[in-house]
Amino acid sequence: MTTPDSIPQYRHWDDIPVPTLLTRTQHGDLDLPRVPAANPSARVTGTDLRGKPATYDLYDARNSTPSKSGPGRLLAMDQAVHTCEDCGARTERPAAVRHGQTRRLCPACALVDAIVTAQGRARVERAAQTAWAREVMADPRSVWVHVDHARRTRTATGRLRACPAVTVTAADHAGLPVLRTIVRLVAAGNTEVPPNAVDQATAAALITERLGGRRVIMWDAFQTEALTCLAPIDVDGRDRLDTRLPSWRGLVDTTGARVWTCLPPDRADRLLVATARMADTTDADTEHREWLNSGRGATVVDITGGDDDTHRIATILRAVGVLVDHTDTEPTRVPDAGGLVRLRVLCHRDGIGGPPTR
Ligand SMILES: [Zn+2]
Repeated sequence: MTTPDSIPQYRHWDDIPVPTLLTRTQHGDLDLPRVPAANPSARVTGTDLRGKPATYDLYDARNSTPSKSGPGRLLAMDQAVHTCEDCGARTERPAAVRHGQTRRLCPACALVDAIVTAQGRARVERAAQTAWAREVMADPRSVWVHVDHARRTRTATGRLRACPAVTVTAADHAGLPVLRTIVRLVAAGNTEVPPNAVDQATAAALITERLGGRRVIMWDAFQTEALTCLAPIDVDGRDRLDTRLPSWRGLVDTTGARVWTCLPPDRADRLLVATARMADTTDADTEHREWLNSGRGATVVDITGGDDDTHRIATILRAVGVLVDHTDTEPTRVPDAGGLVRLRVLCHRDGIGGPPTR
């Protein structure tokens, strides 16, 4: 006989390893109710109906016996409780209405429902990340920056030496290098420092010159800190990819949970590639991308067409940030053109200027 102290103790309902371990109440809730054997086989800590911690005895249903209920009473039982509202499975234990769900579902349908719901949310979030990436790709100030730390070596006694140098690389919209510099972090003459490394003061001046005033896109807070330690560069925490990239990937695992991590791109040009993919502009050719980054200023553009169409085009241009703010959008009628109107608008020459809020 098993003594109460020697039986397995589970700390959560999810930890119970086999489906045949049920409480006394769960035995009674079977569609063919049963009565458990006298001694519990295990114990679980859960919460009672009021949410307070409680310990429940678990009995192995394989050792149970049929309850005293007769056929008449069993046949009168409402079978809806034991029917999955999706696949129609007739479940032995009651089909549960789980948290966040509105229907009574079998375990498989509950899992499918959780996965589909999570994937739906992921799609919405992906759209938000795409909007951010398009804004960044369209911003002529954008630059993608990566700081690579040189490997730290150990002394003969096993002590970890200081990081000898970092390499800062930055790429523009076309993936072309804006900056590549190796910065010495230890004393001059240290043999671990690459020969072409510059000192921190030189690096600070160079980084400020190339990246100052630009919109810096980096991987995570550690990367940002590594850069801002070297030079007083302003980096907006919202322009980091470590949460945005997994959010855009929108992966849901086989339990219906969102996957919130992924490998870092680890290079400036790969940060750009990730952003371009998120923006869904990978088919834009190099010329298009260069246009986004050159020819600053504004230019007058005439839109000619039907009244509704010209208004519509101007509205779209304004929405995506192409129109210079306060552009007068009153149309004028084109003489002898069958009712066509002309809308004269002022557009940013360097692609999209970005929303006026930034
Ligand atoms: Zn089902």
